[in-house]
Amino acid sequence: MSTRKGVLAIYNTLSGKKELFRPIHEGQVGMYVCGPTVYSNVHLGNCRTFISFDLAYRYLLHLGYKVRYVRNITDVGHLENDADEGEDKISKKARAEKVEPMEIVQKYTLDFHDVMTAFNALPPNIEPTATGHIIEQIELINTIIKNGFAYESNGSVYFDVEKYNANQPYGELSGRKIEDLIANSRVLDGQTEKRAPLDFALWKNASDEHIMKWPSPWGLGFPGWHLECSAMSAKYLGEVFDIHGGGMDLKFPHHECEIAQGCAATGKKPVLYWMHANMLTLNGKKMSKSAGNSLLPADLFSGENMLLSKGFHPMVVRFFMMQAHYRNTLDFTSEALNAAEKGFEKLMLAIENLMVLVPSSNSSINTKVLIDGFYAAMDDDFNAPALVACLFDAVKQINAIVEGRATINKEDLSILQKEISVFVFEVLGLQRPVEKSDDQRLSNVMALVLELRGSARENKDWVTSDKIRDGLSNAGIVVSDGKDGASWK
Ligand code: AMP
Ligand code: ZN
Repeated sequence: MSTRKGVLAIYNTLSGKKELFRPIHEGQVGMYVCGPTVYSNVHLGNCRTFISFDLAYRYLLHLGYKVRYVRNITDVGHLENDADEGEDKISKKARAEKVEPMEIVQKYTLDFHDVMTAFNALPPNIEPTATGHIIEQIELINTIIKNGFAYESNGSVYFDVEKYNANQPYGELSGRKIEDLIANSRVLDGQTEKRAPLDFALWKNASDEHIMKWPSPWGLGFPGWHLECSAMSAKYLGEVFDIHGGGMDLKFPHHECEIAQGCAATGKKPVLYWMHANMLTLNGKKMSKSAGNSLLPADLFSGENMLLSKGFHPMVVRFFMMQAHYRNTLDFTSEALNAAEKGFEKLMLAIENLMVLVPSSNSSINTKVLIDGFYAAMDDDFNAPALVACLFDAVKQINAIVEGRATINKEDLSILQKEISVFVFEVLGLQRPVEKSDDQRLSNVMALVLELRGSARENKDWVTSDKIRDGLSNAGIVVSDGKDGASWK
């Protein structure tokens, strides 16, 4: 833990500038990140956004902040179409698979957790679900109606964007002007409930076929996606909190609507720092399920995908993601992953060497400059690629010491050992890939030995076959021959 609070700069989408980070309560940070809509397996693009915020969370923790990190699970209300139209994504999947919507939610929440664990992403402190906060959402809608910024129509409730815009500019986060938005909006079929096409749903009246619905003052229905995040963030972080994050594609309408809902309910802007992570692309195109170019983490780990010639360890993939700043796009290629694998191995080897270096009486390298570089990189809006570059400067120095071209004294060595470990393992969240376990090694060796014994038996070479069996027996391994071949214990 460091005490360097006060020098961290964060790029705030709302101001379009890097700002010195000053939380509302000294020493404490409230951070909300929009979580996944759990209707399918998370793809590598989704993972990039969550890993970007994992990095921010880790660095805030390292700086010594007490962080309350809330990342929700969207399990209702995210419709196929941003204009409040189309089916609920989860209901649609449940209908297609002929299961309960909550089975879909459970299945893909578990997958999401497994993937986050594989990438060594820290769990949030609170992971609220939208379906678990229906009462809070109804309360929030009531407040917005009471304040005059929403209206009921045919069992649905809509936010009155033009009325809101009379006092507060709608569109300031995404840099849109209401006149342009109005000019570009069109009345879609089924939107006759709305007074104006820009108005968005806070609550949707559920038709008879709709599976997920709750009683409300406006009849049976379900909450709007934007409202969920406003209700859950306010409940756990307060009406105004420090950091709100999500992918760039959520800026509009999702986060714009969150600002409007927060202001309409409390008169205050809900968030001090808006952070947006840029997209993972494939051949320059945003990776997305709907575009059909998404890559699943499991396929990447196993190598079972046409784009890949082999599998990659989750830590190599995480390291690959650290090579681009979170606000820049990152293009996925198998070559880039191969390069990341080489770099990762080089870094891990240098760290192993660093831990067993023999100190000299003096230092020819400047550890302070190296370590200041680590902090400067991360203080500059969580600049992971700059940190990685500094770490490779350190790798060069370590290799020079190993090869006898440079020296390091005892005190500098212990500082460097500690700080490199902190930045590589705690801040970047990398892990040394676990060596194959002894058990796994033994089963690989036994598979080979039994195969050789099998060939000996096929050739009626009983001497060799018995020799192998007796030798193994002496080593405490019993071989038995069954109808499916030989087995061992
Ligand atoms: P969803 O489950 O669709 O709500 O998305 C979960 C998160 O993944 C959101 O923050 C999205 O902005 C983010 N996301 C979706 N596609 C990509 C991508 N290709 N690269 C980075 N983040 C993405
Ligand atoms: Zn959200």
